[in-house]
Amino acid sequence: MSDLHRVRVWADALIALHLDESWAFGFDNAKRRAGLCDFGRRRISVSRYLAARYDDDVNHQTLLHEVAHALAGPAAGHGPRWKKAARELGYTGGTTHRGETATELARWVGVCPAGHVAYRHRKATRTTSCALCAPRFDARHVFTWTRREITPAERLAAMTPR
Ligand SMILES: [Zn+2]
Ligand SMILES: [Zn+2]
Repeated sequence: MSDLHRVRVWADALIALHLDESWAFGFDNAKRRAGLCDFGRRRISVSRYLAARYDDDVNHQTLLHEVAHALAGPAAGHGPRWKKAARELGYTGGTTHRGETATELARWVGVCPAGHVAYRHRKATRTTSCALCAPRFDARHVFTWTRREITPAERLAAMTPR
């Protein structure tokens, strides 16, 4: 678990060291990805939601991942230019933004009668039906929700950059 203030201090330091004053840092509210490099706004952001759950090492790696994007430029993707920048920064993780993390850490799993799966972080307060089966609410396609335990090992696995 990271103190968000500390994450901001690292981010500002990394930007000062590797980028320039045109870049800024901020937190965002994403639940599905840990970090984002917004080239248009020249802004690196980290999910406050996920950062608060991750430990310092993981958050530091997320920042390095995004700073490498800023250095490599939008056309680089996760190709050789980005990889080189990332390695030079000390990034040890993989190329994804850990997009599956929020799903892996969701406590509530819903299954519709046809077997479609949905994830929620909080218990659904009203009955919901499957959007894949029916575009509007339809009692024939309601989700059955099950609460699952997320073990510390699963949490760690979900946090580990790939
Ligand atoms: Zn990336
Ligand atoms: Zn369905």
